[in-house]
Amino acid sequence: MRHPGTAADTIVIGGGMVGASIALGLVLRGHRVTVLDEGDRALRAARANFALLWVQSKGAGAPAYFNWSRMAAAAWPDFARQLEAMTGIVLHLSQRGGLTLALSGAEMDHLATRSARIACDQGSDFPHEMLDHSQTRALLPAIGPDVVGALFSPLDGHLNALALFHALHRAFGRSGGHYVPASPVRTITPTKTGTFILDTPHGYRECERVVLAAGLDNTRLAPMVGLHAPITPQRGQIMVTQRLPPFLDYPTNALRQTDNGSVLIGNSQDTVMTRQPVDLEIDAVMADRAIRSFPCLQAASVVRSWSCFRVKSPDGMPVYDHSTLWPGAFVASCHSGVTLAPNHTGLVCDAIHTGIIPPIMQAFSASRFTLTAASRS
Ligand SMILES: Cc1cc2nc3c(=O)[nH]c(=O)nc-3n(C[C@H](O)[C@H](O)[C@H](O)COP(=O)(O)OP(=O)(O)OC[C@H]3O[C@@H](n4cnc5c(N)ncnc54)[C@H](O)[C@@H]3O)c2cc1C
Repeated sequence: MRHPGTAADTIVIGGGMVGASIALGLVLRGHRVTVLDEGDRALRAARANFALLWVQSKGAGAPAYFNWSRMAAAAWPDFARQLEAMTGIVLHLSQRGGLTLALSGAEMDHLATRSARIACDQGSDFPHEMLDHSQTRALLPAIGPDVVGALFSPLDGHLNALALFHALHRAFGRSGGHYVPASPVRTITPTKTGTFILDTPHGYRECERVVLAAGLDNTRLAPMVGLHAPITPQRGQIMVTQRLPPFLDYPTNALRQTDNGSVLIGNSQDTVMTRQPVDLEIDAVMADRAIRSFPCLQAASVVRSWSCFRVKSPDGMPVYDHSTLWPGAFVASCHSGVTLAPNHTGLVCDAIHTGIIPPIMQAFSASRFTLTAASRS
């Protein structure tokens, strides 16, 4: 059955953080866009993230990724203003900088080495500082005696990611975009006339352009249109405390206080692929570290905990590609969909619109994996 719904020239598969950002950018460029989204039972990284705008840990040995993240961070203030004006939703963006705390000399050495590598790649153009305990305390007075020091970068920040997600969807709808929930795409079939037929439980849909932004499912969908989206899912777990009086003026990579006072704790990374919501041993390790970092958390109650899978390529960098076999198909897979949202609404949509990948995005083709494999054999 051919679906009688709206005539979209472009279909975005997936309405997570990446799909919603791209769909908005395309509708603002005049495309007729429909988003087909699987639904609440899908694994959605967009609903589970930590909401950092984070540059300081990106791209040691991969300067293209650092530049891409830094470009997004620079675009955030304007992007947030525009989105807030379009939707009336406050994003609670704060971009005063962020810290990674070290609880041992070895951790401090690791941070210093990684930062030196990024600075070297950037010709020293990486604003950051290694802070000792008292310098860290000047920024975060609540730290405990176990904190040896920290890496600080003024490039970083955080926001309310659920508000961002809501705003992207509202702006898309208000700009004429069409969102269809509960519509998992089973297959994509390219046709001889250059269109694509998408099979969903509600019937078939045809479009001239298809954007794959289905998170983990991109790996399955990409080969149907001559693309490649290698993803290694990585589980991350987060705990949320009761609301507390403000005590954290800056986010850290593992702990941040939200606009409503609750504290998000968590930067766990494991590759166990179960749908078990939380692993209490991981929560215990994260809680211990959080209390050593900020002893005032000893008395706080944890009110919620969850886990979700990060959408990570083997080298951690994004994958953006046009299909050369089936022009009109494009894939976008990445971690850090919050940080990179301005790029996804901006340059990535320019690339989809014009069919040309700009130089700053060229390092993110999935061909880097096939070329590496070929050079090894
Ligand atoms: C624990 C954790 C912490 C994180 N912290 C941060 C952070 O601090 N800062 C940051 O920038 N990023 C962070 N992220 C990453 C960020 O959330 C992701 O980059 C982003 O959500 C990935 O977005 P996505 O749209 O690609 O995938 P998802 O959010 O997973 O969305 C994919 C969408 O596609 C839909 N879908 C799947 N298959 C199909 C199909 N066949 N047909 C139709 N629809 C389909 C799903 O329903 C879903 O809505 C974190 C992620 C995790 C897991």
